[in-house]
This record gives sequence, structure tokens and C-alpha cells, in this order.
Amino acid sequence: MEIKTSSPRETLKAAASFAKSLKAGDIVALYGDLGAGKTVFVKGLASGLGIKAKVTSPTFVFLKIYRGKNLTVYHIDLYRGESLRDFKDLGLDEMFSASSIAVIEWADRLEGKLPKKRIDVIITKIDDKIRSIKVDRRG
Ligand code: ADP
Ligand code: MG
Repeated sequence: MEIKTSSPRETLKAAASFAKSLKAGDIVALYGDLGAGKTVFVKGLASGLGIKAKVTSPTFVFLKIYRGKNLTVYHIDLYRGESLRDFKDLGLDEMFSASSIAVIEWADRLEGKLPKKRIDVIITKIDDKIRSIKVDRRG
């Protein structure tokens, strides 16, 4: 599936509606350059799951945890380069309980070590305002 958005607000809405399709245990891998809109997408995703907490980029902590009513969202940002470590080495697999969703910014930095069963979301900046958002369910 691919959609185009022409404002942050539209990306928030698209992510919120995408979030409704998520189930406990899902892993969402986000790809896209700096400023593509990954964090905006996570904000929309969290709001779609009824999370009220303010979502900000976890630049200095690589993990933030948001507790929703039914689901907990683990928001991971690998920007600072935890790149060469394995998903398992990060201990992420243990943290993910049956009632959580993991959303990973800069997922490509895990270099193919991500679980096979995941949902890839590729965000591409077309121009200042336009973004292409591709959703690809794998595994
Ligand atoms: P990333 O996390 O990928 O580095 P951010 O989500 O932090 O990027 O930032 C995206 C930036 O792009 C924000 O400043 C946002 O306002 C801007 N922007 C402009 N158009 C869009 C759009 N259609 N969707 C998402 N963000 C957009
Ligand atoms: Mg970000």
C-alpha cells in the first residue's frame, strides 16, 4: 500500500488509521531520511491507539515507552547508531510482551537483523510538504 500526504496533519491521520490495523506483538520498522516524517508518523500511530502522552523524538534515550489503554508502544530510535547490534542483543525481544507494539525509527540500522515478521513503513520526502508512505507487511 502506498499513500501520499501533503502535510504533517495528513501524515498524523494516515498513521492513526494505520494504527487501527495493529495487533499486540506487531513490530513496525520505519525507514526514511532525517526529516522524512518518521517521528510524525509515530505520533499519529500513538494517538490512533488512544495514547495521550506527548510523543517526542527519543534522541537522547533510544527507547520511550507509552502505555495505552490496551497496548503499550515501545518507540525505539536507532539514529545514534546502535546499528551493529542484534535485535536480540538489544534485549528488545524480551521486552516485547504479548500486549505491546514496537515502532523502530532508522530500522535499516539493524541491517537485516530485524524479525522477519514485521511491517515495514518507508517514508520518502517528495518535496517540502509531500511525503510518500509505503506500508509493506512481511513474513
Ligand atoms: P524524522 O523522524 O523522519 O527525522 P520528523 O518526523 O521528526 O522526521 O520531522 C518531519 C518534518 O517534516 C517535520 O518538521 C514536519 O513538520 C515536516 N513535514 C512536512 N510535510 C510533512 C508531511 N507530509 N508529513 C510529515 N511531516 C511533514
Ligand atoms: Mg525521528
